[in-house]
Amino acid sequence: MKISFDSAAPRAEVLVVFAHSDGKEAFSLTNPAKLIDTAGKGALAATAKAENFTAKTGQVLSVPAAAGPGVRTVLLVGLGAATDKLSAADIEKIGTAVFAALNARKVASAAVVGLDDIKTADLDAAAVADHLALAMRLSAYRFNKYFTKSAKDKQIAVKGVTLVTKAAGAAKKLFAESEKIAAGVYLTRDLVSEAPNVLYPASFAAIIKKELAPLGVTVKILDVPAMKKLGMHSLLGVGQGSVRPPRLVTMEWRGGKKSQKPVALVGKGVTFDTGGISLKPGAGMEDMKWDMAGAGAVVGAMRALAGRKAKANVVGVVALAENMPSGSASRPSDVVTSMSGQTIENLNTDAEGRLILCDALTYTQRFFKPTHIVDLATLTGAVLIALGEDYAGLFSNDDGFAAVLRDAGAAVGEPMWQLPLNDNWDKAIDSTIADMKNISGSRYAGSSIGAHFLKRFIEPGVTWAHLDIAGMAWTGKDRPTVPKGATAYGVRLLDRYIRDTVEG
Ligand SMILES: [Zn+2]
Repeated sequence: MKISFDSAAPRAEVLVVFAHSDGKEAFSLTNPAKLIDTAGKGALAATAKAENFTAKTGQVLSVPAAAGPGVRTVLLVGLGAATDKLSAADIEKIGTAVFAALNARKVASAAVVGLDDIKTADLDAAAVADHLALAMRLSAYRFNKYFTKSAKDKQIAVKGVTLVTKAAGAAKKLFAESEKIAAGVYLTRDLVSEAPNVLYPASFAAIIKKELAPLGVTVKILDVPAMKKLGMHSLLGVGQGSVRPPRLVTMEWRGGKKSQKPVALVGKGVTFDTGGISLKPGAGMEDMKWDMAGAGAVVGAMRALAGRKAKANVVGVVALAENMPSGSASRPSDVVTSMSGQTIENLNTDAEGRLILCDALTYTQRFFKPTHIVDLATLTGAVLIALGEDYAGLFSNDDGFAAVLRDAGAAVGEPMWQLPLNDNWDKAIDSTIADMKNISGSRYAGSSIGAHFLKRFIEPGVTWAHLDIAGMAWTGKDRPTVPKGATAYGVRLLDRYIRDTVEG
């Protein structure tokens, strides 16, 4: 799907115009819609009235056009109340609705007019067009590679959309950057959607190298002997039951000043999680292919940052392992020594995410000396009990940093909610045989317990946040900018955080 910007409407199969809602059951047409209505002797408004169109945000009405010359159909799209100042999220919701309406009708070409009439809280005309375009691009993602018979029906029908605005030049420039962010989101969705027989630690590492090295990212892959040498026995223990050995991959983007210490993004990449010897129940186990969504988000964020040549030093680190039960798998009650030197009693082999992340965190701090670390992990089922599929769980050793991340997430439709840390929960992971155990043994505060485990590996002076994204990695229904399936939660918020706080 080609998205372009122009100051005048080209010929297109469908013309998209807007209306505001106006009182309870009425609507008011924006200027271009009025022109079409006048040309068609009032047909547009009459049809809309007859169809009970009220111009709610994202509501779409298709009107066969007796309306304009050369146009087959007019799509009338609701903007909500005229007094509402629309936010970026509202614009993106509208963009998603426009794309869905066009694609469902198998429209090949469309022109969207009247963008400059949209009243927003703080966006100029170029930004409105950019957000609309990005929403359409993100909504047009499909994972179709394995269909051999119905592939054609599943393809995106829309071939070209032109967004008409007086700020076409500026919009084009903005969208060139947004396309890089979308490329990061697409990469993450591809990784999270991929089947686990195809995506495993070594193949995941190879994809990272292939995707990121050409963009100027320094990619380093640590194999088992390299990790053994570094003493990453916690990470290695998780992967030792699988015939597909673990990897640790680092991605360095140096777009900032040489003297500037980096920010680090660390991701959990369990390419399939059976639970290990602490085996999960069979029902729903297929979901565990996306237990690598934290790593997927880190890779996608690095793709976005390098793609748009972010002026920041950012290092991505992903710990990759497959958690399988076998004769060589870890047993509940095994004790391992982590790279940090701290010993861990592994009381539940299904609490493996923290066991691979702890070594990744230590490696990241020792070799890259970051000022800030954000880790992302599908870490606990408990976060779904607390926050459902609407917020990621946020934990931090710095409330100011937590607020920065929360704002970045809110700005791009990736919400999170801060959950507490508490000394009692830190004590709860003291082990009777080692420095700590990987579960508390209680059902309570499970997400905070996971966060406390990770916190024990954060070195003094490092600002750290942990995002538990177990509820956010996948969606069973279409959402604004996110078709059902892999969400790529995290990519946009990490990019936004770097842009707003680290760059410039
Ligand atoms: Zn697990």
